[in-house]
Amino acid sequence: MQLRFESDLTGEEYVNQQAWRNASLPRCPLHPKGGCGFARHGTYERRSPPGTRIARWYCPQGHRTFSLLPDCLAARLPGTLAEVEAVVAAVEQAKSLEAAADRVRTDDISLPGAIRWTRRRIQQVHITLKILLDLIPAHICGCEPTVTAFRHWLNVEWVLPQLREMASMHLAGLPPPLGFAPRPLDNVGHQGQIQHDKGPDPPPEIR
Ligand SMILES: [Zn+2]
Repeated sequence: MQLRFESDLTGEEYVNQQAWRNASLPRCPLHPKGGCGFARHGTYERRSPPGTRIARWYCPQGHRTFSLLPDCLAARLPGTLAEVEAVVAAVEQAKSLEAAADRVRTDDISLPGAIRWTRRRIQQVHITLKILLDLIPAHICGCEPTVTAFRHWLNVEWVLPQLREMASMHLAGLPPPLGFAPRPLDNVGHQGQIQHDKGPDPPPEIR
């Protein structure tokens, strides 16, 4: 289970300072009164940013591990929330998702692969923003569910790390990469309003 590690560090700062050493989880989330054998359980590695480690705990009675994800990092996607946000903002400002995907791809990634990669990020983030608008309407009245609109409304450069903090009470139920809900697009059941793109992927490129 992922939990929030409150932190205003960037991904680079988190790695350089080895900030996972400061992560603290004093009580077992399942057994706050203790007696379950809850203890620190080392760290695990994330590939991006290089050198990232995540602090982990284990409850032997509940057979559960708990990891503390700092606010700068995306949940269930590689890299930082800022990196995900940059992709989503680029798509919002591009003529089409395909045009934006073509720009982010490298020689190693085919255009269909880049489109899938980009679409996954934009769908997950836009679904989350729509849910947030329902959860905290008093705060974000009239805001469109785009990172561009949220940035403008909150007057911040990077809105996803900010929303990790603002929505901290709801993270267990929000989809990744912002929240810690177990599955990204399935079971999001949002009053039937969310239309998932179930269209076929483009045919693979012949190399
Ligand atoms: Zn426990």
